[in-house]
Amino acid sequence: AVLARVDQAEPEVKAYITQTRELALKQAAAVDQKIKNRAAIAPLAGIPAGLKDNLCTQGIKTTCASKILAGFVPPYNATVVDKLAAEDAVILGKTNMDEFAMGSSTENSGFQVTRNPWNINTVPGGSSGGSAAAVAAGEAVWALGSDTGGSIRQPAAYCGVVGMKPTYGRVSRYGLVAFASSLDQIGPITRDVTDCAYVLNAISGHDHRDSTSINAPVPDYTRSLVKDVKGLKIGLPKEYFVAGMDPAVEKAVYKAIDQFVALGAEYREISMPHTEYALSAYYLVATAEASSNLARYDGVGYGYRSDGNDIISMYKRARSEGFGKEVKRRIMLGTYALSSGYYDAYYLKALKVRTLVKQDFDKAFDAVDVLVTPVAPTTAFPVGEKTNDPLAMYLADVCTIPVNMAGIPAISLPCGFSDGLPVGLQIIGKPLGEETILRAAYTFE
Ligand code: GLN
Repeated sequence: AVLARVDQAEPEVKAYITQTRELALKQAAAVDQKIKNRAAIAPLAGIPAGLKDNLCTQGIKTTCASKILAGFVPPYNATVVDKLAAEDAVILGKTNMDEFAMGSSTENSGFQVTRNPWNINTVPGGSSGGSAAAVAAGEAVWALGSDTGGSIRQPAAYCGVVGMKPTYGRVSRYGLVAFASSLDQIGPITRDVTDCAYVLNAISGHDHRDSTSINAPVPDYTRSLVKDVKGLKIGLPKEYFVAGMDPAVEKAVYKAIDQFVALGAEYREISMPHTEYALSAYYLVATAEASSNLARYDGVGYGYRSDGNDIISMYKRARSEGFGKEVKRRIMLGTYALSSGYYDAYYLKALKVRTLVKQDFDKAFDAVDVLVTPVAPTTAFPVGEKTNDPLAMYLADVCTIPVNMAGIPAISLPCGFSDGLPVGLQIIGKPLGEETILRAAYTFE
């Protein structure tokens, strides 16, 4: 049924870069056989999913939507991919994204533009836009995305589905192609909160191959699927209601707060004074890390190869031809921020701001259990609207970026519509506070 849906929707939506039908049918047949043999099956067994194309899949092309990795077939699986295989999940393919996860609309893909299934003239958000669009269109029952500054939550909001960025370190990043290593985190994109809990169960846990992965027991997240928010203390940080916010988005978020209160939660307005600096600091930290991470694409070891008269000109040509405009912009920004003479003024300063942003959250969580905010200032915008204005595009992440800077978990879930397009509600929790977030989201949904 899902493959039939792919046939129907994909020509317009263009959610997948690579489809793996034969493999999917084989995986599904193996699950059928297990069921026939009355063998035990895992919760995700047989459930068709899409994987963002920055997750390494052994034997299956992994492009990061970049020409520089066109044709690259990883010799190994990301840890999350191994975990899904162990659960017998069925993988339908690799989903479209902004090149190297840099963007907020999936328009920075080196291959194709994905459309929002709710209105194909609008973007699905990004950078995990292919994953969110696939789930929204029924082209996958669930998907994995990655979130460095909002890339799971914002596309989930734009596509009217659920997306969660777990605590930094909760899910292994081994085999996730690095964008900004201190911010990147893999997470689920699903139709509802229940599915989110199941997928989170499957992918969480310590991994000795990722030195930043947290060595803490993984609870059964499905136990948080309880309808109860009585006494839950909710904070509403006033700084998240920025100028330029769509009034309908604001209204939907306040309506959600009313609903929480009606269900027995308490709410108070709080202040997080460093919020406004998080965005600028993020675009220094993220680009600095990206410029370093992307230094490995020299056109020699793997991926796109060019020619030249000597090795330096070969590097230059491979990188000039292989990387898209936004990626080059970030490499230049990051290299600049890390250069001697500018390091203290930009990179180091940004790290200090990052600490202040984190401290705002620590202080907030002394007083409340979760924070509730919009996911993005607007709903999905028209394709092409911001492609020539990178700064306007960066502003789409203003509500999600502070969460990555602090390394804490947050979910995005649908909370209404504006002009027929979905609005997302963000619930932010303490470090390893996924259970509280899931309980609040499940009660609300
Ligand atoms: N849109 C943000 C950026 O372009 C976030 C991307 C992400 O989370 N991967 O950096």
